[in-house]
Amino acid sequence: MTGSRAGPNILITGTPGTGKTTTAELVAGATGLRHLNVGALVKEQELHSGWDEEFDCHVIDEDKVCDALEDIMTAGANIVDHHGCDFFPERWFDLVVVLQADNTILWERLEKRKYGLNKIQENVQCEIMHVIVEEALESYRQDIVQVLPSNTVPEMESNVDRICAWVAAWKQAAQA
Ligand code: ADP
Ligand code: MN
Repeated sequence: MTGSRAGPNILITGTPGTGKTTTAELVAGATGLRHLNVGALVKEQELHSGWDEEFDCHVIDEDKVCDALEDIMTAGANIVDHHGCDFFPERWFDLVVVLQADNTILWERLEKRKYGLNKIQENVQCEIMHVIVEEALESYRQDIVQVLPSNTVPEMESNVDRICAWVAAWKQAAQA
């Protein structure tokens, strides 16, 4: 199955502010995999069903997102970047990375992003409760899920190196 793909498909997930987009961009730059930022895609292609006033974000139409990505994911060689992970088909991914950050660090990052107090609290609470880690472990085989800390720049670099090494190993195995 994986052998028929041009490259592996990786999901990078985690609470907003944990470093998904920065990490995904670095890995994409180093490996040639395509970075797919689901939030940006939802905006560009209007894959939503309106605006959520309470949470100050688009209401994602999950079926539309999956339809829009199906052929691209079947072709392979993608890094999907999204803060949720329970609505993608399990078969899409070869590796699922969950990034984590400490509460105070996350709080500061979201403040810098000019999020409102409610939205900051909501997201920090989500991180404290390990909501995305649980979601990933419920949605994917445990042996393809990697939970990585993303508090500092060295941690980010180490995560990028680690994911790139994983991609290189996948390519080797696909050639063999
Ligand atoms: P996400 O896509 O998960 O919302 P971003 O990649 O946009 O997160 O990162 C949010 C902010 O935090 C950015 O300003 C980024 O530079 C910073 N950041 C992310 N991860 C780290 C890290 N491991 N160390 C230091 N700063 C980080
Ligand atoms: Mn992002």
